[in-house]
Amino acid sequence: MADGFTFPNNESPYLWAVISIEVTAARHPYRVLIGAGLLTDAGGAIKEANLPPGPCAIIADTNVGPLFGGALAQHLRSAGYDPKLIAIPAGEESKTLEQSGECCEKMLNAGLDRDSFVIGLGGGVIGDLSGFVAAIFNRGIPHVQIPTTLLAMVDSSIGGKTGVNARAGKNLIGAFHPPLLVLDDLDLLKKLPRREFNQGFGEIIKHAIIADAEMFSQLEEIDPDRVDLGPLIQRNVELKTRIVEKDEHERADHRALLNFGHTIGHGIERAANYHGITHGEAVSLGIVAACQISTKKVGLSNNESDRIVALLAKLGLPTRLPKNFPREKIFEAIKFDKKFVRGAIRFVVTPKIGSATLSTEVTMEDIHRAVDTL
Ligand code: NAD
Repeated sequence: MADGFTFPNNESPYLWAVISIEVTAARHPYRVLIGAGLLTDAGGAIKEANLPPGPCAIIADTNVGPLFGGALAQHLRSAGYDPKLIAIPAGEESKTLEQSGECCEKMLNAGLDRDSFVIGLGGGVIGDLSGFVAAIFNRGIPHVQIPTTLLAMVDSSIGGKTGVNARAGKNLIGAFHPPLLVLDDLDLLKKLPRREFNQGFGEIIKHAIIADAEMFSQLEEIDPDRVDLGPLIQRNVELKTRIVEKDEHERADHRALLNFGHTIGHGIERAANYHGITHGEAVSLGIVAACQISTKKVGLSNNESDRIVALLAKLGLPTRLPKNFPREKIFEAIKFDKKFVRGAIRFVVTPKIGSATLSTEVTMEDIHRAVDTL
């Protein structure tokens, strides 16, 4: 067990129950199953999703593959599938076009074809990369997500955004390719190191700030070492699903609200060269900066801004940048951010916990000032 958290009474709360959430997507509806022990019947769940027996790929990183890849492959074999396990080096640096090309070549060599499918077994990096591989292999084959981090369960496995990083910035190459099935096996989180577990709270707190004031208050009360994970993941999956279903391809302003904290967060990740700071930690810092800007632009109260910063800190997330951080690089990276539309930045601000809006009034000067306070 990781030195992170315990299930209440040291037991998985959903040993006997599986939560099933239906998600509507343009291409096909899909199910998100949340429960303990789901990996052991992954083959059955995949069969129920009508994926035909035959060759398939499991893409995992070099940390997760050795932990769960062998067991998953065995369960798939007993259900009639012929899995090829593809391991890629752990870390954000692997989210590249080169790695996706490598995966495709390995899948072709293993005999996968247009009737095959790809399983992403891992955190958000693997979910994004394997989803992109599924989107481009044979012009698109089905994708199954088996997220293994809290962040991936509550956020990245839902909604069909897949992709890789470009030299200029994060997620600049990608495709909308919704999964056919998502399996959130709570048992897999038991091996997750504490720091990686905590970073999932970056996205959970983001969800609470933009759309769920009640969850925000509940988070202020929880003991981070004894979180009832099933209901928390369910609430976040439902919240993200509601937002994505209204604006799957981010054509209107709705889905863009999920980028709260991400404009500056992505800039921080890029400035750090994806080393030493995790995605959730960068988002936490981006949220603190976005609160500063929200106070100035849309009247977020100092009291609510302070509550947000306190909650991030309580759940083990950073709220200040290290002194020697190359801040100038953050601004260079932000210029390449997808949230820039013809020169004007679309910045997500919050006037009040539980709500968010897009602003085109935020200037680089505002961003500079907010980053200076981090
Ligand atoms: P990650 O995939 O790098 O996983 C974090 C670390 O934990 C890795 O070292 C991994 O090997 C390890 N790990 C994963 N599961 C484990 C387990 N059960 N036990 C032990 N170790 C385990 O990072 P992440 O935080 O899950 O995801 C971040 C990525 O998600 C970023 O690339 C971000 O851009 C992306 N993201 C995508 C979306 C989306 O909508 N597509 C949304 C949010 C974030």
